[in-house]
Amino acid sequence: MARLSDRVRALVQPHLADIEPYDPSFTPCRINLSANENTYPVPDGVRERVDAALASTPLNRYPDPMSHALRAEIAARHGVAPACVCVGNGGDELLYNYLLAFGGRASQLLVCPPCFSEYEFFASLAQTPVRRAGRDPRTFELDEEAVLASAHWSKLTVVTSPNNPTGGLVPLSFVERLCHVCRGLVMVDEAYIEFAGEDASAAQLLDRHPNLVVLRTLSKAFGAAGIRCGYVLAAPDVIEAFAAVRQIYSVNVLSQAAALALVESRAEFAPVVERIVAERERMFAALSADPRVKVWPSRANFLLVRMPMASRIRERLRDEYSMLVRDFSYAPGLEGCLRITVGTPEENDEVLAALSALLDEEA
Ligand SMILES: *Cc1c(COP(=O)(O)O)cnc(C)c1O
Repeated sequence: MARLSDRVRALVQPHLADIEPYDPSFTPCRINLSANENTYPVPDGVRERVDAALASTPLNRYPDPMSHALRAEIAARHGVAPACVCVGNGGDELLYNYLLAFGGRASQLLVCPPCFSEYEFFASLAQTPVRRAGRDPRTFELDEEAVLASAHWSKLTVVTSPNNPTGGLVPLSFVERLCHVCRGLVMVDEAYIEFAGEDASAAQLLDRHPNLVVLRTLSKAFGAAGIRCGYVLAAPDVIEAFAAVRQIYSVNVLSQAAALALVESRAEFAPVVERIVAERERMFAALSADPRVKVWPSRANFLLVRMPMASRIRERLRDEYSMLVRDFSYAPGLEGCLRITVGTPEENDEVLAALSALLDEEA
């Protein structure tokens, strides 16, 4: 594992001594199904509206720190007051700010692995102890009673719905129970919720649970990972803390303008989301039919698959087919697992054919 030089280890804050240097290796590939992006371009009419908004945005002034216009549109989308919304430079910034504002040595973050690895990373930056509660190792369903018992002792909880990388939803009845037992805040990370349908969103519980925080992003269903824009929905006093710790200009003027045009055009993403969901089900059926592959049902835009020689197959996909998928086989509980983003029908056909050929060769 890579580490900092001894000289720099002695200089960084002690809790960062074992931090891994950023790995700059980046493999451009013909077909990239590794990062759960929306692989469709933004729909035509929408792209024009984004371009027009960018063209009319002056660059000489600092951004509006709280993104008022965008915040109002997001609030309207969810039927909440603008005071219940805080916009950030991607969902990642807001996850970090969650730990920065509410974490620390005397706090504790409860996570339910396997889940998004950034939670533990941001907890480590913010010196926040992490507590882990389990899932069924075969179905990856939350062990609800174990999670509730741990949540009682944790100031902060984060659950992911649909979960990355396992794809399952968190039932809303369970979110409510969590909000009751957790004495601090419960974040529901809904980066992929559009692929499951708005009915599955915990946003509808915000009225009743002042300790609930819902995280959303424009990086997945909205196909705008490049602009770095996400937001949280929560009670106004919780939003005040998010707003107080943020870097005031983190969401730049171009991102605010593009995000506003995208959120205003949200109805036009429905057909794209439908196509991805239909492809997800087609891929699920195709992969399930292969006796060498185990695939879990997913409500997101990716599938988790387990197969023999997973790491090797992932390398050969990259090197021989120029296709990138994500290797999770090193992660506890995910031995032999790869995560494949659902792409366009052509991309999916190619990855299915390549996987099948490689499984034959590696047998
Ligand atoms: C992608 C993702 C996010 C947020 O991503 P951003 O691009 O920073 O908005 C948050 N949580 C999970 C689980 C994700 O997969």
